[in-house]
Amino acid sequence: MRQRESDGTPSKLSVRTVADQLECACVSRGRRREFSQYDYYRRGVTIDQALIIRGLIGAVAAGIITGWARQRGSLTASGQWAAFFMGVIVTAVGWPWAALLIAFFLTSTALTRWRAQEKLQYTRATLPQSTERTATQVFANGGAFMLLAVASAQSGNFWWVLAGTGALAAASADTWSTEIGTLFGAAPRSILTWRPITRGMSGGISVPGTVAGLAGSLCIAALATFAIPGFGWRMTVAATLGGFVGCLGDSALGAGWQSRRWCDRCGEWTERRVHPCGYRTAHRRGFVWMSNDLVNALATLIGAIAAVAVGRLLKP
Ligand SMILES: [Zn+2]
Repeated sequence: MRQRESDGTPSKLSVRTVADQLECACVSRGRRREFSQYDYYRRGVTIDQALIIRGLIGAVAAGIITGWARQRGSLTASGQWAAFFMGVIVTAVGWPWAALLIAFFLTSTALTRWRAQEKLQYTRATLPQSTERTATQVFANGGAFMLLAVASAQSGNFWWVLAGTGALAAASADTWSTEIGTLFGAAPRSILTWRPITRGMSGGISVPGTVAGLAGSLCIAALATFAIPGFGWRMTVAATLGGFVGCLGDSALGAGWQSRRWCDRCGEWTERRVHPCGYRTAHRRGFVWMSNDLVNALATLIGAIAAVAVGRLLKP
């Protein structure tokens, strides 16, 4: 900020320096030129071979990983196709993106499976009881990341790289905080009203869940630091904070706007359409169209924007 005030130009200059250092998320300078040299997107004639090769390798890897996850009950059939598609696209864009997506997928799948029966007990009355992710859930968590990865490769602008990392960091933070918070956050409170809230309901936060959210965000940001040339510690901080802000945004949207249902028989709030007691629940609060998946997708966008905002503040 101070620099910008002293004379109008350095901030622009330093953006270019950062962008020049990094060029493109996926790779080093050489490959960034491949994109512009072939002008792949505008002419649509020449095919970038490196892109195809990465895509094919991505297809094999994504096939193995998602097939394994489906077999172990972590993905539905549609969820498997969605995750496969995302894996191929992201790998075609560049290896670092693939590494980030795999890290996110494996850690969140492992955390979701960890003591799953116990967690289902805690959330029996509040959440639909399934550990299998559907296509909608997969895209809600990783869709923004995938689009931003493509945007970064196309534009070669570093801020898209940071935005993509922030989006995935937010998804990771949200998953980690939900899983750990459900297990150890015995008495969650609403992030908006600070009143006690039923375990498992969206919008509740707890100390263990919040710490886990920060760790989940840091996990992705730290990996990006190693995987993306020239990322730098400042951007690690930016991506970590961005992801964490996205996670808090998820809770705030969950508490304020997400559709909330009421069981007349038990007198309890829930996100289930049919309560465990067998009674059909009714929509009572929030927007009826604001589903948990939509909240998650918006949270990844918040993570992307927050990461870029912090990154711009921290940039040398
Ligand atoms: Zn009931």
